[in-house]
Amino acid sequence: MAFITKEHQEKAVMALADLIAIPSVLDEADAKAGQPFGENCLKALEHTLALCESLGFTTYQDPEGYYGYAEVGEGEELFGILCHLDVVPAVGQSGWESEPFTPIITDEVIIGRGAQDDKGPTVAALYGVKALMDAKVTFKQRVRFIFGTDEENLWRCINRYNEKEEMITAGFAPDSKFPLIFAEKGLLQVYFEGVGSNELSIEAGGSLNVVPDHALYSGDKVEAVATELLKLGYPFEKVDDCITVQGKSVHSKLAPEGINAITRLAEALANTNSFTNSVLDVAGKVIKTDATGESLVGLFQDEVSGVMTLNVAKMEITPTRSRLGLDIRYPVTLEKETLVAALKDAAAKYGLTYHEHDYLAPLYVPIESDLIQTLLSTYRQLTGDMTEPFVNGGATFARAMNNCVAFGAMFGDTPDYVHQANEQWSLASFYQVMEIYGETVYRICCE
Ligand SMILES: [Zn+2]
Repeated sequence: MAFITKEHQEKAVMALADLIAIPSVLDEADAKAGQPFGENCLKALEHTLALCESLGFTTYQDPEGYYGYAEVGEGEELFGILCHLDVVPAVGQSGWESEPFTPIITDEVIIGRGAQDDKGPTVAALYGVKALMDAKVTFKQRVRFIFGTDEENLWRCINRYNEKEEMITAGFAPDSKFPLIFAEKGLLQVYFEGVGSNELSIEAGGSLNVVPDHALYSGDKVEAVATELLKLGYPFEKVDDCITVQGKSVHSKLAPEGINAITRLAEALANTNSFTNSVLDVAGKVIKTDATGESLVGLFQDEVSGVMTLNVAKMEITPTRSRLGLDIRYPVTLEKETLVAALKDAAAKYGLTYHEHDYLAPLYVPIESDLIQTLLSTYRQLTGDMTEPFVNGGATFARAMNNCVAFGAMFGDTPDYVHQANEQWSLASFYQVMEIYGETVYRICCE
C-alpha cells in the first residue's frame, strides 16, 4: 500500500534539517544532572519528542535525560524502533565543504552531520509511521520509537532504558544497512593477570579493538631475540638495544586477517628461554600466531557466525604485575558461561587470574523467524533487491534487545558517509526508506 504523500516527504526533509542543526555530540564537560551527555544531546532528545508529540504520538522523556520514547497504537505487543539522536564530532574533522551542523538541501541530497547516522533513518522511520497514522490504519500492536543519546559512545542511554522500561516484543534498529543484519558475534574483552618480572619489561598494544602492528623490546637479550626473530622469519627493526617487531593492524573482529606484532615478539622472547613469566608463556608458547583461541580454549565455531576470533591486543610486563589484554568475538550460539569457564581454566592453568573488562551480548534472530521473514519480504518486494541478510555488520542497538535486528537504512549502492566529512544522504533514498519502514510497520503492527 502506498501511504506516503509528497507532503510527508517535504515535512520529513524539513524535520531532518532541523534535527541536523542541533550539534548533539557527547560533551562530558557539559554533563550535569538531567543532561548526562551535555546540553546538545538533551536538546536533540527534547526537540524530537516535541516533534513526535506534534505528529500525534504520545511521548515520554526520562527525567534524568538519558533516553525518551514516542508511542502509537494499542495492544499487548510492543514493537520497538531503536534510534539514536547523538552524532560523532564533525567540528575539526578535515574535508568538510560546508558547516556540518548547518544543513544544506539540494535537489538531490541533504548534507550535514547525522544525515546517514542516524538522524536521517530515524526521521524516515518516523514519517513512515506518521503516514500510517494519517491513513487511519488500526494498530493492533503498539509501535514505540526509542531514542538514545549515547549510542556513539557507551550506550548508557539504552542500558538505562533496559533497566527501567518495558521490554519490546520485537523490533529493528534503522542504523546499518539493508537488507538486514541478523547475527553478530558476542564481544568479550578480558585480562589475564599474573605476577611481575624484574628481568623483562614490556608495554605493548593500545586499544583492545585493534590488532597491534608493532611491539617493542628493549633489554640485554636483544641479540638473542633478534636471532629467534630471524629463525621465525618475522620482520623487525633493530636500533641499538631496541627491537621493534612489525605486524599488520586490522579491527579485532578480523583478527585472523591481521598480523599480531605482540604475539610475534612474545614467541621470540619465549624461544630464548631467558625469562620466567606466565603471561609471556601464554602469548609466546600457547597462542603464538593463532587468532581463533583454539590453542588456548579449544575451537569454538558455529554455522551461523563462523569461528571465534581472539586478538592479543595488549601485553604489559612490569616489576609489579604482568597482564595480557584479549579481545574475543565469539559465535552467536555459544553460551557466554561456557566460554568464560574455559578462559578461567586456561588462566588458572598458567597461574593467572581472569578479569572481565567489557562484554556485549551476541545478536541472533533465526532467519526463519516471523520477524525476519516479514522484514525481508517487505524489503525485497519494494526494492527487487534479493541480497541475502548479513552476519557481523557492525554493532547497533539491536544487540541491546531480544528479537531485534538491524534493518537498513543504507542500500548496497549508497555511498557511505557514516562518520565522514560531508555526510549526506540522497533524497531519493530517504523517500524510499520512508516507504519501506512505513510498509514494514504496517505489515507487522497493523495488518
Ligand atoms: Zn548510528
